Amino acid sequence: MKDVADVIVVGGGPVGSFTALKLSKLGAAVTVFEEHKTIGSPSHCAGHLSIRSLRKLGLYPLPGKIVENTYSQANFYAPSGFKFPVTLAKPVTCSVNREAFDKYLADKAEHAGAHYHLNSRVQSLLIENGTVKGVTIKQGDKTERVAAKIVVDAEGISSRLLRQTGLAGLNGERLVYAVEAEGENVKDVALDAVEVFTGEAYAPGFYAWLMPRLDGTAKLGLATKAGNPREFLQRLMRKHPVASKQIGNAKITRMAFHPITLGGPIAKAYANGFIAVGDTASQVKPTTGGGVVFGLTCAGIAAEVVDEAVQRNDVSASFLQVYQKRCVDRLKFDFSVMLRIRRFLDSLSDEKLDEVLRFCSRIGVNKTLENVEEIDFQGQLLLKVVTKPAMFAALCYFLKLYLSANP
Ligand SMILES: Cc1cc2nc3c(=O)[nH]c(=O)nc-3n(C[C@H](O)[C@H](O)[C@H](O)COP(=O)(O)OP(=O)(O)OC[C@H]3O[C@@H](n4cnc5c(N)ncnc54)[C@H](O)[C@@H]3O)c2cc1C
Repeated sequence: MKDVADVIVVGGGPVGSFTALKLSKLGAAVTVFEEHKTIGSPSHCAGHLSIRSLRKLGLYPLPGKIVENTYSQANFYAPSGFKFPVTLAKPVTCSVNREAFDKYLADKAEHAGAHYHLNSRVQSLLIENGTVKGVTIKQGDKTERVAAKIVVDAEGISSRLLRQTGLAGLNGERLVYAVEAEGENVKDVALDAVEVFTGEAYAPGFYAWLMPRLDGTAKLGLATKAGNPREFLQRLMRKHPVASKQIGNAKITRMAFHPITLGGPIAKAYANGFIAVGDTASQVKPTTGGGVVFGLTCAGIAAEVVDEAVQRNDVSASFLQVYQKRCVDRLKFDFSVMLRIRRFLDSLSDEKLDEVLRFCSRIGVNKTLENVEEIDFQGQLLLKVVTKPAMFAALCYFLKLYLSANP
């Protein structure tokens, strides 16, 4: 068996590479195995990220053309087409080119000392006496066993390797199925606005989005809890009272399909010699399906704990549980708020959702959001804005609706 590194990272997605970067900076010897020939490709993600969160992670401003656009506005459309616009004082989010973003993180990790092996699929974990001791790799026709002190699983949503350890994977009932597309010939959109469309007919259990780029093209997509996302996208483009005017004649140049996990983090993301991080551990916002910032946040925590484990020569689950504890301490409040918001949104019929957005518009909830910069940590965001009368009134109204739907 080949002994290559202190740490093996499975997956060269953003979370795997950020873990590898942080670990390499701490001095650990890291090897990353990525099954694809190219980092970041194929991309399945809209790459809509908070500028403030990227900055806090030390990743903003981003170089070159990674950032395609920035947004200071979001227009939420009720199923009837009613528009609830939120205009912010300055750009708060950006659209990143995910392939370029992933490559940037992988390059940084490589420069810090991590070794990347592309076209290298981790077939299985090597487990001896209940401890993960390495992985089996398939590179072309060649299969190899590779040992490490600890394996970091950043394989994404499939959670295939995670389940091999006996850990419970993410909650399959809380998955939505998404299509991410790119289109040309998009009309009637403000370049600094993200459009969000709701409604059972277009994106049941989630929403659809349209993110214009500066060159006249746009990213668009949706997720649905049931049915075929491609058919929902076609319906959105043809039938939606607002979207059909914007993208009815758009030429779709690319489409990718991928699930999104909305169930909140798995209860246990560690085992002897093993830590799971990112989508595989369901570290994704249940409200929006955004997983990059929370995945990277947990990657930072994972790197610290893994480095400590390697230095102490203790990769036991009883030591690694500190990873879970630190993630919970950091994110529990925001996740519990976001899970409640998700349950609330799921409980609304189209008519109620229409009512909710009209109510928010009438009492001026959008004004209370003008100076918002924090959009990821939504529990903390709520605490900040709840003292404003319109937001307080809206929350009381939501609570009444929620309790009547969930007695
Ligand atoms: C349609 C859609 C839109 C989204 N939009 C946003 C958004 O706007 N903002 C946001 O924050 N999040 C968004 N997300 C979520 C975001 O894409 C994920 O949360 C994020 O990519 C998670 O990163 P990750 O590194 O954990 O997993 P991934 O990005 O899935 O990376 C996993 C990597 O592991 C590799 N891999 C898998 N198995 C193996 C193996 N056995 N051996 C070797 N390599 C392996 C894969 O090839 C891949 O490169 C979106 C998701 C979807 C589906």
